[in-house]
Amino acid sequence: MAKMYYEKDCNLDVLKGKKIAVIGYGSQGHAHAMNLRDSGCDVIVGLREGGKSWAVAEKDGFEVFAVAEAAKKADIVIMLINDEVQAGVYESEIAPNLEAGNALAFAHGFNIRYGQIVPPADVDVFMAAPKGPGHTVRSQYVAGKGVPCLIAVEQNVTGNAYDIALAYIAGIGGARAGILETTFREETETDLFGEQTVLCGGVVDLMQCGFEVLVEEGYSPENAYFECIHELKLIIDLVNKAGVSGMNFSVSDTAEYGEYVSGPRVLPHDEIKANMRKVLSDIKDDSFAARWIEENKNGRPLFNKKREELSAHQMEVVGRELREQMLWKNDNDLDSASN
Ligand code: NAD
Ligand code: MG
Repeated sequence: MAKMYYEKDCNLDVLKGKKIAVIGYGSQGHAHAMNLRDSGCDVIVGLREGGKSWAVAEKDGFEVFAVAEAAKKADIVIMLINDEVQAGVYESEIAPNLEAGNALAFAHGFNIRYGQIVPPADVDVFMAAPKGPGHTVRSQYVAGKGVPCLIAVEQNVTGNAYDIALAYIAGIGGARAGILETTFREETETDLFGEQTVLCGGVVDLMQCGFEVLVEEGYSPENAYFECIHELKLIIDLVNKAGVSGMNFSVSDTAEYGEYVSGPRVLPHDEIKANMRKVLSDIKDDSFAARWIEENKNGRPLFNKKREELSAHQMEVVGRELREQMLWKNDNDLDSASN
């Protein structure tokens, strides 16, 4: 078993007298800033002048500064802006303002793992990565709970990097749920693999195929949407709570039998795993990262085209209409959720 840390392993006093600059005030940024402040930490926010988030962070009661200014004032700088723009902002605004003994922190390892950001040798570099969306990081904290977090230390020049990282994660509530130790490499590679093969790619393709087969065979799109898309959350909630066996306990025995005999027909494991290994290999040999960095440099032609195509897909059109009718549509926070 990998090493886990909890609140008893964290000492928030380590952060006393240290100023934390949260750079970015989106999904993760607002949650880290608010949770750390509620945990008694000294937090400022660093943003683009004229950006949309500036007024929001000020309204939430934070002192907001241009990124360079915030980095200069802080002892700990956490990068919570979009991964694709981090390297540019780091180069021009943060690097010149890091002092020896400061800490540079991340919530995802992409820029360190793929060499887009190369910190100076005299600062601590750590990761505090919640395994959940920022809005959940905030709502769980407020509810007295937390989202599990990953911790990794890439550079430990002060000798205190682990204690600082553990205290930081306790400050955002993660120690209440559990902190798992990892490395920048492992976090980045597993995160990219998971989102490409199972969580986003993978599950989206599975839902889309199921929806298309039913509609192509003459069933109503509304029925296909409820069956192949809407219900997935209900099933996943059960898995999340009680594992696959617990989910099987709640569904009918017919459903469970169908799972055993038809699941592997739809997804023949040898073939699927071979495909997944190819995706992993592109992640490990840097070729996926190189393509994504290039795509961003070129103004995202493929990304934008795919996003438009998906939005026009029948499963999305029907889904928008059905969700619009759902009585509780106004109390979910999906509109403001990540991405
Ligand atoms: P986001 O898109 O929700 O927010 C980005 C913020 O950065 C916004 O406030 C935006 O105004 C600001 N910003 C963008 N460009 C900027 C610039 N040039 N200068 C200054 N500010 C700028 O981002 P997010 O989803 O919170 O992601 C932040 C980090 O957290 C990323 O490293 C991401 O991988 C990581 N992460 C996200 C999640 C998640 O669920 N959202 C989970 C774990 C880790
Ligand atoms: Mg995001």
